[in-house]
Amino acid sequence: MKKIIIAIDGHSSCGKSTLAKSLAKDLDYIYVDTGAMYRAVTLYFLQNNIDLNNLDQVEKSLKDIHIRFQKSGDLTHTFLNDKDVEFDIREMYVSNKVSEVAEISIVRKVLVREQQEMGIDKGLVMDGRDIGTVVFPAAELKIFLTASIEVRTKRRFDELHQKGLTVDYETVQKNLNHRDHIDSTRLDSPLKLADDAILIDNSEMDKEKQLERVKQLAMSKILAKSC
Ligand code: C5P
Repeated sequence: MKKIIIAIDGHSSCGKSTLAKSLAKDLDYIYVDTGAMYRAVTLYFLQNNIDLNNLDQVEKSLKDIHIRFQKSGDLTHTFLNDKDVEFDIREMYVSNKVSEVAEISIVRKVLVREQQEMGIDKGLVMDGRDIGTVVFPAAELKIFLTASIEVRTKRRFDELHQKGLTVDYETVQKNLNHRDHIDSTRLDSPLKLADDAILIDNSEMDKEKQLERVKQLAMSKILAKSC
């Protein structure tokens, strides 16, 4: 069977990672969370007091950042310079800064190149904001996920509390709106629906139904390619 690339883009906290992870598992594909890469760069910048307005400093420091993913059972952990930062990159102080970092073109250029290298052999499910538009514009299947802001806030709020992070509902909602605004209006690679993407609003859809639907779409693309 031929392998394809599946791009999953969409708004913050609408379940992209959950869908992408399950899909990759079922298809035996590689899963890449590109949001984790932007978060890891943000964590590095915060830890090393990198001035986001000093583009020379930003560019130089990118050479010192090495991000990799490591599977641990069903979970994939993000490593920044060989340190497991999976927990730290989900903290609110990183969420509050990540979209400003992701606006910087040199940051995008470096990360997009790494993401494209990961897709050389196909068999990949990648989620983010610009996967179907910029990273893999020729991806065989493009999904654009969204959900109402209330549903997304509740999901993110529950997820953070399950991880033991104490943050109130309004703060979570403010952060989602803030990130969506920057992500959709930035000049470089804004979040937008690719012409050939399939739009799914999962506000009222359960995870299993959504996975089944996307898996069917993926299988028909894989079969078409293998004929
Ligand atoms: O996916 P997640 O919500 O973890 O992404 C965190 C942030 O990283 C997004 O709000 C966005 O600013 C940035 N991002 C991006 N392009 C991607 C993935 C994430 O700009 N492909």
